[in-house]
Amino acid sequence: MKRIAFARIAQETNALSPVPTVLRDFEAGHYLVGDELLAAATTGPEVPGFFRRAELAGFMSAVSERRSEIEPVPVLSAWTSSGGPLSRDCFEILEEWLVEGLRRAGPLDGVYLCLHGAMGAHGIADPESRLLRSVRRVVGGVPLVVSHDLHGNLTRARVEAADAIVAYQTNPHRDHAKIGAKAGRIAIGTVLGELRPTMAWRTLPMILGGGKTIDFLSPMRAVFRRMARAERSGEALAVSTLMVHPWNDDPALGWSTVAVTDDDTAGAERLAEELAERCWERRHEQPPAFPTASEAITQARSSSFRRKLGCVTISDASDVVTAGAPGDSTHLLRALLAEASGLLTYCAVRDPQAISTLWPCSAGDHVALSIGGTLDPARSQPLPVSGTVVSKHDQHGFGKTVVLEVQHLRIVVTEGPSMVMRPSFYKNVGLSLWKADIVMVKNFFPFLMFFLPYSRKTIFVRTHGTTDFDAAFQLRFDGPMHPRDVVTDWHERDRMRRGLVSAHEVGKLAR
Ligand SMILES: [Zn+2]
Repeated sequence: MKRIAFARIAQETNALSPVPTVLRDFEAGHYLVGDELLAAATTGPEVPGFFRRAELAGFMSAVSERRSEIEPVPVLSAWTSSGGPLSRDCFEILEEWLVEGLRRAGPLDGVYLCLHGAMGAHGIADPESRLLRSVRRVVGGVPLVVSHDLHGNLTRARVEAADAIVAYQTNPHRDHAKIGAKAGRIAIGTVLGELRPTMAWRTLPMILGGGKTIDFLSPMRAVFRRMARAERSGEALAVSTLMVHPWNDDPALGWSTVAVTDDDTAGAERLAEELAERCWERRHEQPPAFPTASEAITQARSSSFRRKLGCVTISDASDVVTAGAPGDSTHLLRALLAEASGLLTYCAVRDPQAISTLWPCSAGDHVALSIGGTLDPARSQPLPVSGTVVSKHDQHGFGKTVVLEVQHLRIVVTEGPSMVMRPSFYKNVGLSLWKADIVMVKNFFPFLMFFLPYSRKTIFVRTHGTTDFDAAFQLRFDGPMHPRDVVTDWHERDRMRRGLVSAHEVGKLAR
């Protein structure tokens, strides 16, 4: 029997959020070790409330195909929703638990590590590379296979530390388990001596492009189809395009491509290069511009027929909690209160301070207080409201939650992340989606699938917050970055980031 350890440490970081991610967030989100982890990955749910089956379930299904040859060794799984950078403490404790878990696991023949790919930590550059190096120090040269979200950022240090890196091939993401299985099969094949994974990659000085970046829509569809074709035909074991989380603070941030072949260096290089060119060709197709909150409310009001059949969903694209925003923004809330009168509107805001005021109240109590604008006071101000407490709940993932009735608004105030992505966010606190005219979400893509039964019209609005696309332009980069700057050629930066030429030489060439 060959023994393959599996573990996950995953969080997507928005470097602009002033709310640090701490150990408590992982413990409240998802933290499992040993047999409990094995059970969750085998029978599910893998992450209750979020994923029935994800990467680790996929890995276990790959193991089940080779049950007589492979022993899966559960180490740990820590996951929490997107947010600000991990505190240094939080990162170092998770790292230590991972290293300790691997040490205690006994002799290992391989490791599968599920990482988000866009995790940041205060005071630590490229923390996921550090995790890979720490794992290497314990397990030595055994096969190490890594999976990433396609919003991850590839770096030279990661490519050097891992034997193979694979990423999701869907956006919105719906192939977590499939990618875990793919990573598992590569790890198993390598451990058993059947495969010799050979990896090549390219990195682009580009943080936004590819239009809406949806895998099944133009302009990215052709890229994702090419990747699928390469895998189907046996040209490669795995091919990935990583489209980056633009608010992830790494000077070497940028879209990247990576191909893993079975002992075919030239083939891997060819594929990575071809995909990089295909991505670069799509760089000028930028994300769509969004209307203001007032424009969105006017559109919602005029959609009376659609509101009869369901609701109008308004996504606050500037405060997307699932992309790491604090979720405390009051810009859209303020506009809905002032301008959406007569329209029953469900909305959400994160405010732990307001929760401590509201929690002692009972349903029916009249209250007057300020909500929101406390976690990121530089970007939005508290909104004074007066209304009635409708109900109180203590919910996994969201913490203490109070529903307030303020005129035509039903405001769900949460202690934890106000991650409005699924209808259950409102349904679980007694708000029927069929009754609402307008429903606020704080998500970019997955809600489109989840709200399909209810939503008759979707509007993204731009207010002002950490997930504005151009907010990422204030981050530090290792040179000109598309689309903030004019970049005429990607090859030199790619060669510099891959260590083929020095930054000094690139500077000389640029002059
Ligand atoms: Zn993602």
